[in-house]
Amino acid sequence: MSKPTPLFNRLALIGVGLIGSSIARAARAQGAVRSIVATARSPATRKRVAELGLADQVVESNAAAVEGADIVIVCVPVGACGAVAKEIGPHLAAGVTVSDVGSVKGSIIRDMGPHLPKTAHFVPAHPVAGTEYSGPDAGFAELFVNRWCILTPPAGADPKAVDKLAAFWRLLGANVETMTADHHDLVLAITSHLPHLIAYTIVGTADELQTVTRSEVLKFSAGGFRDFTRIAASDPTMWRDVFLANKDAVLEMLGRFTEDVAALTKAIRKGDGETLFEHFERTRAIRKGIVEIGQDSPAPDFGRPHPDLAHEPLPKPYAAED
Ligand code: NAP
Repeated sequence: MSKPTPLFNRLALIGVGLIGSSIARAARAQGAVRSIVATARSPATRKRVAELGLADQVVESNAAAVEGADIVIVCVPVGACGAVAKEIGPHLAAGVTVSDVGSVKGSIIRDMGPHLPKTAHFVPAHPVAGTEYSGPDAGFAELFVNRWCILTPPAGADPKAVDKLAAFWRLLGANVETMTADHHDLVLAITSHLPHLIAYTIVGTADELQTVTRSEVLKFSAGGFRDFTRIAASDPTMWRDVFLANKDAVLEMLGRFTEDVAALTKAIRKGDGETLFEHFERTRAIRKGIVEIGQDSPAPDFGRPHPDLAHEPLPKPYAAED
């Protein structure tokens, strides 16, 4: 099948980690742009991006990357986006679309907006897709397929620029939804930020136990613990920035969560099995709903492979008589 006409001429990617490199791979695979110019903070990452052939050009500075670009996507940790906007602002071409992929949106609008010229279309975005891995090697072209990308255009954003960015994300396989930055930050506080905080907490708690050894925690982790460790292995810089940037919404959700933990604590103390059962029944329905709308696989145990049973003969004393 022939590829569609590119949506943009020159894509500038600032930051080429998991998300930036996945955008590069997917944009190229789909013919979404004519050329890609990329840059990253460290010489080591820039070298790796060149080795992987992720961009047509790898340049040394953010300012050089955006020269002549008609779309710029900033793919760095949330806390670094303001400084990047300040650096690129004076070098942006008129009519360029400037976007990002940050996991928090209110702070991005606050930190980046003031540094961008009026001639640029600023359309913040958040692809709700990821893994616990980082860096340019971690990305893959299919990362966004059937995942949601949320656009949070500020008041007064040009609808044509918003539509074009939505078309770009759809071409990369994502479903697109538009909402305000404040609403985004509230929704993601419960669906992403709080789960990460809980995972970081529980894994840390287990690590500090005196009565249960670390080797026991690792050995018996299949009881549930290991599913938290995947999330708790996520990038420390990224997540530090997320909690600092989405402070209010996270504290709001954390307050509600703490109340619910207290209610379950009381049910356990009182031996109130009915309350526990009703709660667990309700939460099981949520999992079913996620699978039904195609946001996770129905395979048991997240589809982990299970080794075959060994067919070794039983030692003599235990074998049944013929
Ligand atoms: P990553 O793999 O760690 O890559 C981050 C990139 O940003 C690297 O190229 C890094 O350059 C550069 N960078 C780091 N600190 C910087 C700074 N202070 N100034 C300029 N550049 C800097 O991160 P990622 O997972 O792609 O995340 C990037 C953005 O996507 C974050 O805003 C995050 O909130 C958002 N996001 C992440 C996920 C996820 O699951 N990971 C999902 C959705 C959205 P060097 O390698 O040279 O340091």
